[in-house]
Amino acid sequence: MLREERTFIAVKPDGVKRGLVGEIVRRFERKGFKLIGIKMLDVTPEMAEKHYGEHKGKPFYPRLIEYIQSGPIVAMVWKGYDVIHGARVIMGSTKPNEAQVGTIRADFALVKEYNVVHGSDSEESAEREIAIYFNENEICDEYDNMAEIVIEKIDD
Ligand code: UDP
Ligand code: MG
Repeated sequence: MLREERTFIAVKPDGVKRGLVGEIVRRFERKGFKLIGIKMLDVTPEMAEKHYGEHKGKPFYPRLIEYIQSGPIVAMVWKGYDVIHGARVIMGSTKPNEAQVGTIRADFALVKEYNVVHGSDSEESAEREIAIYFNENEICDEYDNMAEIVIEKIDD
């Protein structure tokens, strides 16, 4: 059985306001990743600073903190084989103008300052970010989905 990972994905406030929640969820669902947590919330200043702590001191940091609090986000936990990297492939490059056609950011965004979606970049940041937004009792992993049925049959 292949090893599964978890990642934190968020539809950012611009994605929510533009009605892209379903479109973004659909792209991860149809790939075969397993949705195990989802909620809408307003990001607090404390959450914003924890989430983007690695960028503190960079020129874009103040605007990023303001952006992530500019409306509700849809926070999600997804599980699956290579989901951390796979989700970032589906999202596309940080800069939408350089992102591959067919990715979320290429298809729905113009500039990096409003790039509609967030995804963790490593196992360490995934677990750190999940813990900012979710209690473990809000994560529902007790059901089988197609991805698990498929990867259980692969010896690796
Ligand atoms: N960002 C920005 N200007 C920059 C770099 C990043 O506004 O020059 C924003 C952008 O919204 C990005 C977020 O800060 O998604 C976090 O940056 P990171 O480099 O971690 O990109 P990501 O992991 O989201 O692709
Ligand atoms: Mg990042």
